[in-house]
Amino acid sequence: MRITDQNPLLKKLIENVAEVAGYLWERGWAERNAGNISVNISALISGETIGINSHPFVEMTTPYPELASMLFLVTGTGKRMRDLARKPLDNALLIQLNKKGSGYYVLSREKSSDDIFMPTSEFPTHLGIHQMVKRRGSKETVVLHTHATELVALTQIQEYCNQEKLNKLLWGMHPETMVFLPQGIGFVPYVTPGTDDIATESLKVLKKHPIVLWEKHGVFCIGDSIIDTFDNIDIMTKSAKIFFLTRSAGYSPEGLSDKELETLKVIASNF
Ligand SMILES: [Zn+2]
Repeated sequence: MRITDQNPLLKKLIENVAEVAGYLWERGWAERNAGNISVNISALISGETIGINSHPFVEMTTPYPELASMLFLVTGTGKRMRDLARKPLDNALLIQLNKKGSGYYVLSREKSSDDIFMPTSEFPTHLGIHQMVKRRGSKETVVLHTHATELVALTQIQEYCNQEKLNKLLWGMHPETMVFLPQGIGFVPYVTPGTDDIATESLKVLKKHPIVLWEKHGVFCIGDSIIDTFDNIDIMTKSAKIFFLTRSAGYSPEGLSDKELETLKVIASNF
């Protein structure tokens, strides 16, 4: 692939995406074609230098004018994380939005390619999130959706379909959860997957939290790097695992006290 061969930073990023795709599969969070990833790679590539006429063009129903001319690496629809881990560019696409942000060019394919595929069906949700990030001027470049099993399992318990209780539980299971994720997790009550509602609700929650947990479905996360984004989900899931492990042993987990959590919050603020 020409663009990546000439660009060591992009090559490294694609390697990291493949590494994380492997982790998602190994964790059991990516059954069949579950999950999707997009990364804003505009800072890694000079868009001006790319000849776009020979690449397939796709018009979008919703325009994203603030993302005009930006470049993204995005997983393909129907593609599996376990395959992405081995062959990232056979399962993800490099795309560039046009100058109006109303459509995109598939840079990693020529018009004549016989292996053209579409980005994930959640791509509009990803673009909405990337646009929100740009609007607020923050530095997150990664959007990741996966079916983090233990976190989803928590949302099968009505008591924890409550953001406050959910965070108290997760922070209380392990000190590092508060240290690394003092903003906690945002909760979105069940919405049919693939609908606009899920994008709208997620956007609201992601303004305050780096992870949103969709009831009975999975997580949507944003982060500065693909590795850090994975780590955040991993930390939260560890807490959920400790909760279920303690329960499975026949005990109710004690959790950390409010005072202990307050102390950790101070540490987090100086981190
Ligand atoms: Zn999903």
